[in-house]
Amino acid sequence: MSPDPLVIEGCAVATMDGTGPFDTGAEYASGHVVVSGGRITAVGPGPTVEIPDGARRIDGVGCLVTPGLVNTHHHLFQWLTQGLALDEPLFVWLRTLYPVWARIDDQALHAAATGGLAWLALAGCTTSSDHQYIFPRGAGDLLGATVEAAAAVGMRFHPTRGSMDLGQSSGGLPPDEVTEDTDAALTATAEAVARFHDPGPDSMLRIGVAPCSPFSASERLMREAMEFARYAKVRRHTHLAETKEEDLYCRETKGLSPAEYLDKLGWLDADVWLAHCVHLDDAAVKRFAATGTSTAHCPSSNGRLGAGIAPVRRLLRAGATVGLGVDGSASSEGTTVATELRQSLLAARVRDGGEPSALTSRQALWLATRGGAACLGRTGEIGALTPGMLADVALWRLDGLAHSGMAPVGADSVGADPVAALVLAPPPVAELVLVGGNPVVDGGELRTVDSESAARAVRAARRWLFEEVAG
Ligand SMILES: [Zn+2]
Repeated sequence: MSPDPLVIEGCAVATMDGTGPFDTGAEYASGHVVVSGGRITAVGPGPTVEIPDGARRIDGVGCLVTPGLVNTHHHLFQWLTQGLALDEPLFVWLRTLYPVWARIDDQALHAAATGGLAWLALAGCTTSSDHQYIFPRGAGDLLGATVEAAAAVGMRFHPTRGSMDLGQSSGGLPPDEVTEDTDAALTATAEAVARFHDPGPDSMLRIGVAPCSPFSASERLMREAMEFARYAKVRRHTHLAETKEEDLYCRETKGLSPAEYLDKLGWLDADVWLAHCVHLDDAAVKRFAATGTSTAHCPSSNGRLGAGIAPVRRLLRAGATVGLGVDGSASSEGTTVATELRQSLLAARVRDGGEPSALTSRQALWLATRGGAACLGRTGEIGALTPGMLADVALWRLDGLAHSGMAPVGADSVGADPVAALVLAPPPVAELVLVGGNPVVDGGELRTVDSESAARAVRAARRWLFEEVAG
């Protein structure tokens, strides 16, 4: 059933309907967005010209409306294991957490995914990816648990069927107990696509294929997963070039940099988006642009693990696509895409010292909307406020105490602009979040699942998990 038509008016509007990160599109100091049949039907300056029959009218004065934010990288299972291995680099952090994750089951994951996705929705995210790469024997229907949680929250969902088949005994990083047999992983991946993938234009659920990383997935798994993804016409995802240690691992075991290794396997391509991409040389940046390979930039997680920061400015200047990702919550402690707006801007400016324009506020918003849509293969469907596109919309309140010193919107507005307020200042409350026109957040509160119950379920699942680990 189609959601009720809806009109948002009197708000600042940032459409992100431009041609690229250097031309982000039309903005209006006061304008309107009209939604009907789950799609955007009108966007423009001033009052609404045509109001659909029976439309709910929302007073957007004091707010900014943007496309809903897109999260391109997550590990929802990690929601239960935040705040551990606090001061460790990636490989030590992983070795500490693999044995904990090995005890997760589908019930615990359902609680984690509900909590994680609800939290993202409250902060204006309308589409999220997930990378589930641990499938312990007897853990139940893990992917199904995340799919069910996303449906309950009302999030547009792009989960990926991850896999690891390169355990310690074969020269990989993870203990053998958290890896799968290569054939079993490939079969389960094909089953997940057959069971869940919806390629339709209004799709709420598309599956990707995602062997985990160069140090946990074999060359055979990478190649056969690629062949299957091409056959099934689904997108591919993995981690790449996250840390110096991974760079060294690839050079020692494969004689290539991480990017050269993936290129050799056919994994730099237009149907691929890669998490992190911190350690890329100029040749790799050029290959990303030439092949259409996209990057899921996760600045908070990269900072938390001391991994470094991706060369976002160089990637954008080369013409490559970059989206934002929160990464697993165990390395980002509940970061949202909204907080990554500011993080991405600050990180780019710190990385490229002496270049305060390394990433602008509008470019950061572009990464979180149009860049994310492109990473997930949904350009033209989501990521912009354009008539005909899916009604994935976030309305941000900017007239509270946090933004009073900038006064970026409304009658008191002097000098400051609302996009800068959204990106530079602390992330505001999302007043209204629509996914396909359905209000997932309304009046600043979740309307699909109960936040308190979700938090209780997360705490109970975390307690159960740690009791299991203590054994
Ligand atoms: Zn990750």
